[in-house]
Amino acid sequence: MKLVVLPGDGIGPEITAVTMAVLDAAASRHGLAFEIEQHDVGHASLARHGTTVRPDLLEQVRRADGFILGPTATFDFKDEAKGQINPSKFFRKSLDLFANVRPARTYKGLKAPVGDFDLIVVRENTEGFYADRNLEQGGSEMLVTRDVVISLRRITRLCCERIAHAACALAARRRKRLTVVHKANVLKIADGMFLEICREAATHYPGLAVDEILVDAMMAHVVRNPARFDVIVTTNMFGDILSDLTAELSGSLGLGGSLNAGLAHAMAQAAHGSAPDIAGRDIANPASLILSAAQLLEWHGARRDQPRFVEAARGIDAALAAAIAAGHATRDLGGNLGTAAFGQRVAEIVRG
Ligand code: NAD
Repeated sequence: MKLVVLPGDGIGPEITAVTMAVLDAAASRHGLAFEIEQHDVGHASLARHGTTVRPDLLEQVRRADGFILGPTATFDFKDEAKGQINPSKFFRKSLDLFANVRPARTYKGLKAPVGDFDLIVVRENTEGFYADRNLEQGGSEMLVTRDVVISLRRITRLCCERIAHAACALAARRRKRLTVVHKANVLKIADGMFLEICREAATHYPGLAVDEILVDAMMAHVVRNPARFDVIVTTNMFGDILSDLTAELSGSLGLGGSLNAGLAHAMAQAAHGSAPDIAGRDIANPASLILSAAQLLEWHGARRDQPRFVEAARGIDAALAAAIAAGHATRDLGGNLGTAAFGQRVAEIVRG
């Protein structure tokens, strides 16, 4: 499997190094071969190449079987004319990675303040309220006067259809429950269309139970009884917010894995940001990126009909759960292991 690895900013390099050690262990356990290329993105690339993402990286990741993007300091990147491009946006938009799949589950060995659950947030990834990806050229936020700003939200039938079908197909392979999260009472036209399309898509998946919840009420429902949810489909910004909540309810934002998938390409990327408040201190939880990398292996194995990659993905998930169940944990989970030591423990279990 040809992999491109882009460690990113803040805690990115620390959690990426650990993730690569876990993949190395999975390779020896499951007889896989990785061909790995690593490049700078974010601040390191800006300093060295005058841009946060070199344009040639697009070709490199297109030729690869998948890639790993560490978190980047996107809030710092304000002016594309100065090379400050949001790497996450760049790859999601350029490669049409329309489905952001963010699982969250509780773990044996960790407190579950709202009870046990196992769900997946499926978030539309290429339009919505994200001003930097809605237009072919330019951004969809406008300063009308010094005191008046307009931010546009784009919702299209195509993007609704493909995310709805991705979520339905996933739910059909799991517990066959789909929850559509929306705000069609206020965003009557846009979310009205999203909701209608989700309802229609679900009719193509026999046995799928569908419910619909307004996004504000969803914040209460997911805290009150997360066990009732299986697959949750929603638009871009709602999914971004909801999935940070579900990750934290599972124990920590540091457990938030995510895959950004299109028809031909996929990018593993933790759900969280570059966490500058804890960067460089060997205390970040690498589980988010380890789980994301496992999702990438599973995607690759399923797409290329190579069951060993799927087995390796399951092995990594199981090893991480076993490490936590045995009391090995980083500080955010109430443990005392550093990033590297926790990753090493997971890698040892993966290796067997
Ligand atoms: P953040 O997600 O980086 O951090 C939020 C909180 O969670 C912080 O207290 C942080 O220490 C903690 N946290 C995050 N990941 C953790 C981990 N793996 N282990 C333990 N604790 C963890 O959000 P922020 O601080 O608001 O943003 C920091 C930067 O990241 C900003 O520049 C923001 O724009 C960027 N960002 C990038 C992405 C991305 O690259 N996909 C996503 C979100 C935010």
